[in-house]
Amino acid sequence: MSVLIPTKTPGIIKKIYPNYIWDFYTEDEKKIYLTFDDGPIPEVTEFVLEQLQRFNAKATFFCIGDNIQKHPEVFKKILSDEHTIGNHTMHHLKAWDNDIKTYIENVTSCEKEILKLTKSHNQKLFRPPYGQISISKFSELKKIGYQIVLWDILSKDWDNTLSPKECLKNVITNTKQGSIVVFHDSIKAYKNLKIVLPEVLSYFTEKGYVFDKIEY
Ligand SMILES: [Zn+2]
Repeated sequence: MSVLIPTKTPGIIKKIYPNYIWDFYTEDEKKIYLTFDDGPIPEVTEFVLEQLQRFNAKATFFCIGDNIQKHPEVFKKILSDEHTIGNHTMHHLKAWDNDIKTYIENVTSCEKEILKLTKSHNQKLFRPPYGQISISKFSELKKIGYQIVLWDILSKDWDNTLSPKECLKNVITNTKQGSIVVFHDSIKAYKNLKIVLPEVLSYFTEKGYVFDKIEY
């Protein structure tokens, strides 16, 4: 199945859905936006934070509320390293399987978990699990102040049929200036992530890129 999901989001899709954030292309800034979904998870998120620190990189973490509740100490480490936090629902809900009320309540529950541990959370960024979204849910999320962040590059780090080498090649050949790249700080992705992430950070740092967090 996963081979059918493109690594690089086709330009036509970005044009059809211009209201979602897909990338931050600017001519003069050599920046890449790494994002990490599905954490916080002990060891995995901590590994990511260490790697980011080594390269003086900032990133954006789309956290699952349930994981924040289970691992508040790990969540606090993301905060103290001054990365951006985004909402990824409380229980990683699929937009197409849930009605709007259930879905929005799940987003709000996640926000409550974030707010319990942050003094102020002014970055209202939301990434829908599985990239699933509908027009009605999109409008509702906009109404309550969210920016919907999708991606330009999917690392497919979770796909265990991909070797770390293939996963790395996917990211390196497709990532461009302004790309938003998706990784996962999850147990499933760790096998690939622990090899690919340091390589990606080092490759693009050598080429003069800076890794920045998403801010709105
Ligand atoms: Zn996810």
